Amino acid sequence: MRFNSIEAVLNRPTVEVNPPKQRISEYFGTNVFGDAAMRKYLSEEAYLSVKASVEAGQKLDRAMADQIASSMQAWALDKGATHYTHWFQPLTGATAEKHDTFFSYENNKGMESFSGNALVQQEPDASSFPNGGIRTTFEARGYTAWDPSSPAFIIETGAGKTLCIPTAFVSYTGEALDYKTPLLRSLHYMDSAATAVCKYFDKNITKVTATLGWEQEYFLVDEALFYSRPDLVMTGRTLVGHGPARGQQLEDHYFGSIPERVYAFMVDYETESHKLGIPVKTRHNEVAPGQYECAPTYEEANLAVDHNQLLMDLMDRVARRHKLRILFHEKPFAGVNGSGKHNNWSLGTNTGKNLLSPGKTPKNNLMFLTFFVNTIRAVYEHADLLRATIAGAGNDHRLGANEAPPAIISVFIGGALTKLLNEVEQRISETDFDEMDKADLKLDIHKIIPDLLLDNTDRNRTSPFAFTGNKFEIRAVGSSANCAAPMTIMNLIMGNQLIKFKAEVDGLVKDGEKKDTAILRVIQKYITESKAILFEGDNYSDAWKAEAKKRGLNNVTTSPAALDFYVTDKAKVLFKESGVLNEAELEARYEIQQELYYKKLQIESRILRDMALNQIIPAAITYQNVVLTNVLGLKNAGLDKKHYKAQTELLEELSVGINGIKSHVASMIDEVEKAEKIESAHKKALAFCNKVKPHLEAIRDFSDSIEIIVEDQYWPLPKYRELLFLR
Ligand code: ADP
Ligand code: MG
Repeated sequence: MRFNSIEAVLNRPTVEVNPPKQRISEYFGTNVFGDAAMRKYLSEEAYLSVKASVEAGQKLDRAMADQIASSMQAWALDKGATHYTHWFQPLTGATAEKHDTFFSYENNKGMESFSGNALVQQEPDASSFPNGGIRTTFEARGYTAWDPSSPAFIIETGAGKTLCIPTAFVSYTGEALDYKTPLLRSLHYMDSAATAVCKYFDKNITKVTATLGWEQEYFLVDEALFYSRPDLVMTGRTLVGHGPARGQQLEDHYFGSIPERVYAFMVDYETESHKLGIPVKTRHNEVAPGQYECAPTYEEANLAVDHNQLLMDLMDRVARRHKLRILFHEKPFAGVNGSGKHNNWSLGTNTGKNLLSPGKTPKNNLMFLTFFVNTIRAVYEHADLLRATIAGAGNDHRLGANEAPPAIISVFIGGALTKLLNEVEQRISETDFDEMDKADLKLDIHKIIPDLLLDNTDRNRTSPFAFTGNKFEIRAVGSSANCAAPMTIMNLIMGNQLIKFKAEVDGLVKDGEKKDTAILRVIQKYITESKAILFEGDNYSDAWKAEAKKRGLNNVTTSPAALDFYVTDKAKVLFKESGVLNEAELEARYEIQQELYYKKLQIESRILRDMALNQIIPAAITYQNVVLTNVLGLKNAGLDKKHYKAQTELLEELSVGINGIKSHVASMIDEVEKAEKIESAHKKALAFCNKVKPHLEAIRDFSDSIEIIVEDQYWPLPKYRELLFLR
């Protein structure tokens, strides 16, 4: 199979792609029921009510929903769609859809119909989605509810076209069972807190949204090679495989020229993305061989999350068309870089201002400083929650592996801003505000806050949370993750922080302090309080681990333990008070994450057992027999031992490998069986992490050591050099 698949790759033609002849701007968003389509198909009244429901969160009434549904249907039918589906993001991490046709058959007559009811709410038979025990089997119903803030779109596949309606997914009793619901709640929570703080500076600000620009990394592997690797097929990563002679040490892949087949794939998915209104902008090779990245222009966070999920689906589908497989796993190959998904996060206002963008006037700079320092204060307070949100079986292989940020959360702000914060802190403490009148203070803010001439080139690739000029970049998120999880936490902790900030400022004002002075005083206090989270050095170094420990920053390296941060008393209060997740929802989510963790390891251990016993050991034995025949032949020919010393050593090395694999497989299966009997998801996850995983690693070591001595023709699994370099 290995050699057949290599031959298949070598004979693969590049799939022809025919992107539209028009400019991108001419077909961008044509498959979206966005503003242009709505203006065309909706009545004035319906258009305004959709807008109001998006912007002010107003509820749509039934009659209006019917009207919108029938216009949406008219648009979709004009586009050639035959089916519609509620599209949602259950906690599996994938997206889900169940298609219905517009066609209906009534009174001996066929017709197309789509009611307001069908648009607004569906009741998928949802008993088989993860629910963490929220839904008992007799109440297995779940609801999907239309999210008008993310426009409907049409998916084109070879077989047909489907209208997809982004929805939230909740249980019969109203608990969130998806990623979108808590994200929307967190956006709402942060909006009201941030808008209230904005009023200190600008009365025209009535809405604050979070913005997200993600950067998606991925690997591509040829389909034939992919299918020759049971581990890739079943788990998305290679469980064995010796590193290639040439990995990424020549540093020649990053930004190198893109291979033709990959280029065709990129043009193909980008065309589809653009039709779907996903503003994909950047494409390039990443550091590891076979690794690539794409990034869009940033958007409002809820829409950006939908677009990332949609794009991942789309890329997977388009890759297959090109006889390629896309790997979103965080660590598909040992020894070369894994994949992440940087989440660039900021806050934008209805007046078009980026609150994390330093301004030119003192007033703007005070506003910038307020949001900047509050973000740092929020991360300082809730770093553990951020750690929990990036947990996952795949990301465990990446975090702290000297290619991705460590499991210690810290904030990098660069030299210029470090200096600024120090100066601000000092100047505020030295200024006697009581002696100043209002006019003086206004002038003095300018002196207190030095000019913000930012050095944008100041970067730190080792930091998990870095300020990059006008946004924070969360760099530890896994490539397969749904961005909604970290985005929900950012909005939640920021919203909570801003509420506290406002209470402190208002308190000082009530006690007679001038508003600007009060703001400065609280900022100074926050700078002092949250210093421990700021780190400008090398996050990969051992010195940082020691230093972080001294500062009291946590360094939790495995997922089952990191997930515990979700269910501390502090976290429970925060989630509940904000309304983002009630305790039942939070506990359920925690259970589901622990379950996902151990299930992934369960699958890995099963498939590795099969590969070890059915492929790796037999290959080693076959080759050992060849060597053995040779040794016996030489012996029979009367040669002295010294003439087949190397062969005898080989026989021994192969036996060591075979025995090592065999015994670790046995112990692994033993530990899996023990772990499977454990009731609690948390303890089960811990058992898989601490008892099963070490055997997976040991089997890999033995396998890799015999892979390099077995004659090439007997090795059944495509090697790293083939997986990473052939396409
Ligand atoms: P980099 O140097 O990291 O490549 P870029 O300026 O190219 O920086 O931005 C990287 C990502 O950050 C892009 O996805 C971009 O859309 C996003 N981004 C830029 N500005 C913002 C913002 N205000 N809010 C959120 N994301 C942003
Ligand atoms: Mg970046």
